[in-house]
Amino acid sequence: KRKREQEDLEKLQKTVDELDPKSDLKNFTDLPLCEATASGLRASHFEVLTDVQRAAIPLALKGNDVLGAAKTGSGKTLAFLVPVLEKLYRARWTEYDGLGALIISPTRELAVQIFEVLRKIGRHHAFSAGLVIGGKNLKEEAERLGRMNILVCTPGRMLQHLDQTAGFDVDNLQMLVLDEADRIMDMGFQSAVDALVEHLPKTRQTLLFSATQSKRVSDLARLSLKDPEYVSVHEKA
Ligand code: ADP
Ligand code: MG
Repeated sequence: KRKREQEDLEKLQKTVDELDPKSDLKNFTDLPLCEATASGLRASHFEVLTDVQRAAIPLALKGNDVLGAAKTGSGKTLAFLVPVLEKLYRARWTEYDGLGALIISPTRELAVQIFEVLRKIGRHHAFSAGLVIGGKNLKEEAERLGRMNILVCTPGRMLQHLDQTAGFDVDNLQMLVLDEADRIMDMGFQSAVDALVEHLPKTRQTLLFSATQSKRVSDLARLSLKDPEYVSVHEKA
């Protein structure tokens, strides 16, 4: 069974490597995804890719840093959650590997929404996932952190843990996501995010999504992304 899994994984990786990110993809089933993600999407009734998903997911699956700009409601959540699940799956991430992906959101409400989508499409994966948004006892939250593979957080609260929670190890982190980057900046989280990124390993993949493009967003991108691929989706006239 082990051998079979290994072969399937190698086959999947090969399909990803050979994927042309510019090829004309229409549905989630056109993407090289593992069965767990594919069936999670199917069960959640996601079928046709939105423009930003079609542009960003192949690049992200191939391991690129991505800076994606697309208006509110264009489907940016799945544009990063699908690559997060695939990255950890292909790394054969287990409960013993610690924190694999960190998703930063400007507000608690948005973090909860992301977490709910993650639970839906990730239901067939074995990863543990948690929310770090404050409003709970810091110590209680800290005790659960060490067991999480994927965290969705707000910047201030996450930084508090990184600064204060002894034994919370982020050295294995594979992927950082900054969602609603424009709002993160507008809400004055620049220095918290800068400090947060300082704690993270330099060799990682970073995805940054924003509803608008601005000087502040490109400042943040310069600090956190490496040779990013730019994906900008405009409304059709
Ligand atoms: P954004 O973050 O860009 O504002 P969301 O990720 O919150 O957008 O998605 C907006 C809405 O579109 C949500 O209700 C979501 O369920 C829906 N949606 C996202 N992707 C798809 C898709 N491929 N097919 C159908 N609905 C989708
Ligand atoms: Mg969003």
